[in-house]
Amino acid sequence: MENQKPHVLIVDDERGLRLGTKRLLESEGFVAEAAENGAEGIRLAKSNEYDLAIIDLKMPDIDGIEVLKAIRKENPNTVCFIATAYASFDTAIESTKLGAYSYIPKPFTPEELLLQLRKGYEKRLLILEAERLRKEREERLLEIAYEKTRLKTIMDSITEGALVVNRTGELVMYNSGALKYLDLHEIFIGDVILEILPVEITAIIQKFIDSETYIPNSYSTQVELKPNKELVIEATCSPVPHTDGSLAGVVTVIRNITESVKVEAVKSQFVSMVAHELKTPLAAVIGFLKIILDDEVKVSPEQQKDFLKRSYTRLQSLVVMVNDLLDISRMELRKAQREIKELEIDQILKSIIDFLEIELQKKKITVSLHTDSPACRLKADQNEINRLFTNILSNAVKYNKDNGSIDINISNSGNYLVTRISDTGIGMTKEEKAKLFQEFYRVKNDKTRGISGTGLGLAIVRRIVDSYAGKIDVESNPGEGSTFSVYLPLSLSK
Ligand code: ADP
Repeated sequence: MENQKPHVLIVDDERGLRLGTKRLLESEGFVAEAAENGAEGIRLAKSNEYDLAIIDLKMPDIDGIEVLKAIRKENPNTVCFIATAYASFDTAIESTKLGAYSYIPKPFTPEELLLQLRKGYEKRLLILEAERLRKEREERLLEIAYEKTRLKTIMDSITEGALVVNRTGELVMYNSGALKYLDLHEIFIGDVILEILPVEITAIIQKFIDSETYIPNSYSTQVELKPNKELVIEATCSPVPHTDGSLAGVVTVIRNITESVKVEAVKSQFVSMVAHELKTPLAAVIGFLKIILDDEVKVSPEQQKDFLKRSYTRLQSLVVMVNDLLDISRMELRKAQREIKELEIDQILKSIIDFLEIELQKKKITVSLHTDSPACRLKADQNEINRLFTNILSNAVKYNKDNGSIDINISNSGNYLVTRISDTGIGMTKEEKAKLFQEFYRVKNDKTRGISGTGLGLAIVRRIVDSYAGKIDVESNPGEGSTFSVYLPLSLSK
């Protein structure tokens, strides 16, 4: 017998046999309990789980088969024996069908009974062991399932897309980011995913899979998933090793790089525009100097002076452009030191008008300034505000007609200080207006031919206005003048 004593239930209406059996079993190391009829047997079986049960088939109250059924229902792992003097083939079959382990014909010798019970108890221990293993496995499966859900939650909370394939290209794991970027609605673990991934990604994964040896490196590729750079991703594929160092699979991490790709494109476009704008005046200056330095070319002193003058003007305009560019770059890098203080915008505009006096006089332009006092106060950096309005006002002079006028109006509107600058100049078309604030954009027509400029003034204006979370509107028609309205927030948000 095992360390633990087997518990046996004896259900028999024959008193002598019942008590005799109980005594015998107790002397043999069993713990035995006896029930004198079926009902008592069922009651005991309901309150205890017995290892073994010996059930008499014929009892006056309840049939042994019914008792067997009830015990099996309560504790299916109790090993039950049917004992009867009226053994018949049919009842034997029926009781085994109902789960009796064996049949004990009465009368039985103590040896016969003990032999059967010991075999039954071995069976019972096997059943219990199997049951324990099954439970353990279920618990482990539950644990694994729990681990999997936890891992999935973690994976799904990563903004990057991630998917893992095994070395036969079947999907092993993925997160919702991967589904989103790759626009996949239904994929399942075990799918052969390589065929539906973008070819650029498949090619890298295939390289890992096809390699005879384990490649320890990661490889990245950029994929335009939606046309016109609407969705550009960077996929980085890395090998996943087995513990023996061989390839288990490949993990692919997908990052949305649309914004940085756009910024890069704008940057390189800007650099090429700058280079182009610098090249033209430089080439002109080199051309003039070359002629002057060339001994073969006869140039009169007057001509020489003219060339040098023109070179000087070109270089001067280059310096202006470089300064404008430096301003833009400082603003982009947010390097410019800001000194925010209360400004009187009308005073700033007056000082700009004074500064432009010579040009105004040259073109005989009159300026009027209306203020809706006390509307003129604003907290901002003086240099920036000065730069902003100097650019707009100098354009209003440059692109104005002779004997024209400029009208400035300062007022409050909601949370904004609004400065309207209207001129009676050449105006512009709708198409020209749309490009006005782009770097280096200059309207090219007969009217603008003689007017110098860098095309950066309004680009700087836009940046300054943006940096104060303000806005700027332009109304204009060709030949009818233009009105620039600058809205600056009265309460600074930055
Ligand atoms: P620029 O150095 O050429 O003046 P801006 O960026 O200040 O550069 O202006 C861009 C272009 O917008 C100008 O070249 C001009 O064609 C047009 N523009 C700007 N202001 C006015 C205005 N008040 N009236 C007509 N055209 C203007």
